[in-house]
Amino acid sequence: MRLGVLCSGGDAPGMNACLRSVVRAAASDGHDVIGIRRGYEGLMKADFFDGELGVGKMSPRSVAHILERGGTILNSSRCPAFATPEGLKVAADALDRAGVDALIPIGGDGTFRGAVALAEFWKGQVIGCPGTIDNDLLGTDATIGFSTAVATAVDCIDKLRDTAESHERLFLVEVMGRHSGHLALATALAASAEIACVPEEIVDAVAIAERVQELRSLGKQSIIIVVAEGDEQGGAVALNEKLSLADCPYATRTVILGHIQRGGSPTAEDRVLATRLGDFAVRSIVDGATGMMAGETCGHCCLVPLEDTFSTHRPLPEHQIELLDRMSC
Ligand code: ATP
Repeated sequence: MRLGVLCSGGDAPGMNACLRSVVRAAASDGHDVIGIRRGYEGLMKADFFDGELGVGKMSPRSVAHILERGGTILNSSRCPAFATPEGLKVAADALDRAGVDALIPIGGDGTFRGAVALAEFWKGQVIGCPGTIDNDLLGTDATIGFSTAVATAVDCIDKLRDTAESHERLFLVEVMGRHSGHLALATALAASAEIACVPEEIVDAVAIAERVQELRSLGKQSIIIVVAEGDEQGGAVALNEKLSLADCPYATRTVILGHIQRGGSPTAEDRVLATRLGDFAVRSIVDGATGMMAGETCGHCCLVPLEDTFSTHRPLPEHQIELLDRMSC
């Protein structure tokens, strides 16, 4: 068989590890892999990987020593032009011309929406691998990149805590998550933050100020509030302004972690997950599956219809919200 692979949407640590796994699992079973550069944009332009086997083909050597590298050697993109009937038709034609039998898109919910749309114009098999720091897809316990993004944010907050303690300050730390608070909540728990503000919950600046005053009276020298960028109060800067109006007992500072969370060498957890899912995606294609995401739940690889992965909002783990609350006293 001839498999196509691409990375799409925001880059996530572990995309390279997944790519390596796809190439090596395919090669060990005698299949070819065509690397498609720059996500769906590159697919529309037939922009293929150029390595020692010529244009297109990726050999096991071409993915040597990329497992530990962040980002993606294939590059990624966000491409609105793909999400049109004309764009999808152009992409389908490019796949046919390249003789691709099956496509493995590595990305988040937008990438999977695109894969579902593409299937209406293209007859080949499609198996997606979940590569996004958001952990907002249903059908897998974790997405590739989430563990690393949390670890990176926690490392930053550990450093901020030193300053917060020394100067008795409150830091509002903004993390990524436009529609989803998974990254913010896990980061808050792992960094021993006192409060997490997530898009899924109504954030009341006055109630937060009261809670902060309560924590001050309990002798807390410093406070860390993790704010998801998509919080309805408008992120860390806006919340800081509201807190100052609501009589906050600490001097405050805001830090926006921004794109720092996306890069960096993947954690061992993300490397293992990416390797398992890339391999599983290839084996699933060989078994004839299509229209599915390769995920991992309770330690087992599983296939989930692509539509189901983004059909509803992935709820935050309620027990973690309660746990954070209990730990902040
Ligand atoms: P991340 O979780 O990092 O944001 P993502 O995969 O969700 O990653 P998006 O930018 O939302 O990133 O989507 C990637 C690409 O998928 C888009 O640029 C677009 O080309 C395609 N896409 C998204 N939604 C659709 C859709 N409804 N129909 C067709 N294509 C789509």
